[in-house]
Amino acid sequence: MATNLVKLVLDLIIFMQSKLLKNQKLLTFVQDLSGLLARERAEPELLKQGSALLATLVVQDDWLPEQFTVPHPEFYRQYLLYADPLERFSVVSFVWGAGQKTPVHDHMTWGLIGMLRGQEIDTHYFKQADGSYLRGESHVLKPGSVCSVSPATHDVHEVANFHADQTSISIHVYGGNIGRISRHVFDPVTGAEKTFISGYNSDVVPNLWN
Ligand code: FE
Repeated sequence: MATNLVKLVLDLIIFMQSKLLKNQKLLTFVQDLSGLLARERAEPELLKQGSALLATLVVQDDWLPEQFTVPHPEFYRQYLLYADPLERFSVVSFVWGAGQKTPVHDHMTWGLIGMLRGQEIDTHYFKQADGSYLRGESHVLKPGSVCSVSPATHDVHEVANFHADQTSISIHVYGGNIGRISRHVFDPVTGAEKTFISGYNSDVVPNLWN
């Protein structure tokens, strides 16, 4: 009886420690990115150093709480993981159901995409003189890799789950509160644009202060 109780307590301690460690990774990332944004204003440097921080976060797929990994049968999901109170940045878990993809869209702020689970295809589009968008090369993002978007260089893209039969998850970081930013989707052929605000698909965020 006493042995069982000791074992139960030990299991509970191990469980709590593992929970703490998982949230610690996201908290460390948020803290490091806050520090970077406080000292660095030049976007190229920000993207370079921010990419390194995000690469550290997605190098191991053992920290994202289960509820932010759940796909929707029809639509890709955008779960908010953290929003800076000054809206300098936000961190989002993008969950792609099998075969799901975005329309061609922009962000109106810099963004970093870190691949955590599965793979996705990132295709950039470039505005032409007649207003249409030319499809650029596609890149397959492998787990652990990081890429970027930016209005300064390449803000318009389309992202798709590489897999037709499994979920993929990437961690996105933006230079603002992306769920509240007014931005656009495009018809690449005509160049016609539609304004949208994405919002988020979750009502709660991970508890980083547990
Ligand atoms: Fe995007």
